[in-house]
Amino acid sequence: MRAARVISCLLLLLPLSAGAWNAAGHAAVAAIATPLLTPQAAAQVRQLLADDLDRHGRPSRRTQLVEIASWADEIRDEAVKTDPAAFRGWHVRRNPVCSEALGACPDGHCVDQLLISQTAILADRTQSPRARNEALKWVVHLLGDLHMPLHAGVNSNGGNARVELAGYARPGRLSLHEAWDGPLLDAALAGWERVPGAAAPVPLTPDAPTQWMRETRALALEAVYRPLPGFACEARLAEPIRLDQAYREASVAVIRQQLERAGQRLAAVLNQSLR
Ligand SMILES: [Zn+2]
Repeated sequence: MRAARVISCLLLLLPLSAGAWNAAGHAAVAAIATPLLTPQAAAQVRQLLADDLDRHGRPSRRTQLVEIASWADEIRDEAVKTDPAAFRGWHVRRNPVCSEALGACPDGHCVDQLLISQTAILADRTQSPRARNEALKWVVHLLGDLHMPLHAGVNSNGGNARVELAGYARPGRLSLHEAWDGPLLDAALAGWERVPGAAAPVPLTPDAPTQWMRETRALALEAVYRPLPGFACEARLAEPIRLDQAYREASVAVIRQQLERAGQRLAAVLNQSLR
């Protein structure tokens, strides 16, 4: 219960941003991982964040994983002001939910491949401190995105399908992706009586991020798309799609499970990379 309160307190400090698994979700993943770090990993995190820079390249004075968990969204929000295509596709992989095929990943710029390449930079002591600082921020962020079902699986409507969510004050103005990133995530975090546990064993094979993404894609099919009224593989659904109270309640359990998995796996990745 104490850890649950700690998470809530940390989240109050953070601004919410739209258009991505919101800052509170990323911070929750970091908050779950932080107490699971080994002393060696925790010491290196402190060192790597000692000289942290914000989205404008100025000293950020951020020293905690929860504070840097959305830096990757922040630099993208800044970059798209001058280049609308900046970082496009870096936080997702558009894997079709009804197929074994994986989505495109141009130049290795998609969520699972970047997680693999940035983890390698983080673990490499010959890299510059700045490269490792930024790699740490990418890894913390992308582990969160990788567990967000709509960042790993798409159907024919795509994540932009318009939905009407039960209990949401502005009907018709939400996309499916926004519903999961925003109000459903907020519902999952609200009143979460999380029981903190010990670090779970996490097998870390070289392609583990891709395996986790496939697991998230399967979950996108079972928990995001299949419960939609009228869903069938390859069928385009009539919009707006109605998300009822039962859908809302089921999604809360799924999101909490995904935050927990992401936090445990983040701790395992950092503990292995920062020995
Ligand atoms: Zn993101």
